[in-house]
Amino acid sequence: MNIAILSRGEFLYSTQSLITAGEARNHEMEVLDPTLFTSGIENGTPVLYYGSELVDDLNAIIPRIGATNTFFGSALVRQFEAMGVFSIVASESILQSRNKWTSFQILASANIPMPKTFLGSAFQAEETLQRFGNNPVIIKVLEGTHGAGVILAETYQSALSTIETLSASEVRFVIQEYIAESKGCDVRAIVVDGVVVAAMKRQSKKGDFRSNLHRGGSSELIQLTPEENKIALKTAKTLRMGVCGIDILQSKQGPMVLEVNSTPGLEGIETTTGVDISKHIIRYIERNKQ
Ligand code: ADP
Repeated sequence: MNIAILSRGEFLYSTQSLITAGEARNHEMEVLDPTLFTSGIENGTPVLYYGSELVDDLNAIIPRIGATNTFFGSALVRQFEAMGVFSIVASESILQSRNKWTSFQILASANIPMPKTFLGSAFQAEETLQRFGNNPVIIKVLEGTHGAGVILAETYQSALSTIETLSASEVRFVIQEYIAESKGCDVRAIVVDGVVVAAMKRQSKKGDFRSNLHRGGSSELIQLTPEENKIALKTAKTLRMGVCGIDILQSKQGPMVLEVNSTPGLEGIETTTGVDISKHIIRYIERNKQ
């Protein structure tokens, strides 16, 4: 099969891991930069050019669209879908997961547990904050990644001034209950085609509450509890994602979903767990193209 990885980072670990896994199964693997495509409709038919070349020979795509390119990236994936090319993640799912509030709304409709969360706004800011009592809150910008844009406001006053600052800068955000008992830890599970193929626990570096590996956190292999496993699968199914990374907090009330990532980094989880996630992704494509 001809499989394209849509990525600007040809030499990134994740891209290289996918190439190796695909070539090991005798597929033609290529890395195409999403910013070099032009989508169009000619004579009522969707067409796609890569530079000056017509794209008409791909069987499947693996989108690895950066957070700064969500609009054009998801439009490109939709173009492939219109042309009948299989994508491991649907364009709609990429868009939904990139906006934390949109994904929370969809997950709530399926009764998936998550921390108490409100969409932030300068209007009704004090009333919203009062819904959290006098407890610390987490304020998150809607399209942040890698832990950048996640703020712990320990007092009512610091929460209010943060909300006013973000609103004045026209940044959209959510206000969320702080799950203190998670103690800077969270669980990252990778789901491929309805199965949790790998899971790790991440621990923040000393003094931080964010466990992202990009923020200096550390990780270890874990076995999900049956409840965590069930929630991870239900989350992937609700957002209709063939492949995704799901972050889960272990709270006093049980596991809660924090976020879903349509382009999970593979380096941390493959090296921590020893699982060849790329191989699972390639097998998933094969099952769908038979
Ligand atoms: P990002 O998309 O930037 O990774 P997350 O929502 O996953 O943002 O938050 C980053 C990290 O901050 C999480 O992995 C977790 O360790 C910590 N965190 C986020 N929300 C909460 C919360 N409500 N309570 C406790 N810790 C949290």
